[in-house]
Amino acid sequence: MALERTLSIIKPDATRRNLTGAINAKFEAAGLRLVAQRRIRLTTAQAEAFYAVHKERPFFRDLVTFMVSGPVVVQVLEGEHAVARNREVMGATNPANAAPGTIRKEFAESIEANSVHGSDSAENAAIEVAFFFAGLDIVG
Ligand code: ADP
Ligand code: MG
Repeated sequence: MALERTLSIIKPDATRRNLTGAINAKFEAAGLRLVAQRRIRLTTAQAEAFYAVHKERPFFRDLVTFMVSGPVVVQVLEGEHAVARNREVMGATNPANAAPGTIRKEFAESIEANSVHGSDSAENAAIEVAFFFAGLDIVG
């Protein structure tokens, strides 16, 4: 089975509460490896570009404001079925619907401030990884 890579973001609600390590422990326990990582402060233009797929959604402006409200950690996870595995470990978008033991169930504050982003398909993972990382930044 081929290894996959996917983009993960630890969102501002989680960095503010010092949860980076607790969240990444869950990824590592699930067999996902952190093969690239950077802590950054997104600009509004960067957040708008990253979430452009959602620009017609009613929550778009609030989402962008939230994503620039503090530091984020952008990272690449690698493992078997990494895209789907990451989504499993994250849990449902709305923490009220997230399964026990998932990151969003344990840590999310709300449907918006839900602690983590994860790519939703292999195709989008490739696009999102390339948005933040050059090939030489990723050390598997
Ligand atoms: P996911 O992050 O689970 O892939 P989406 O891609 O649908 O979810 O949405 C992107 C992000 O937008 C969510 O993680 C969340 O931060 C925010 N969001 C989604 N739906 C809502 C909503 N109904 N109200 C406020 N924010 C939302
Ligand atoms: Mg999504």
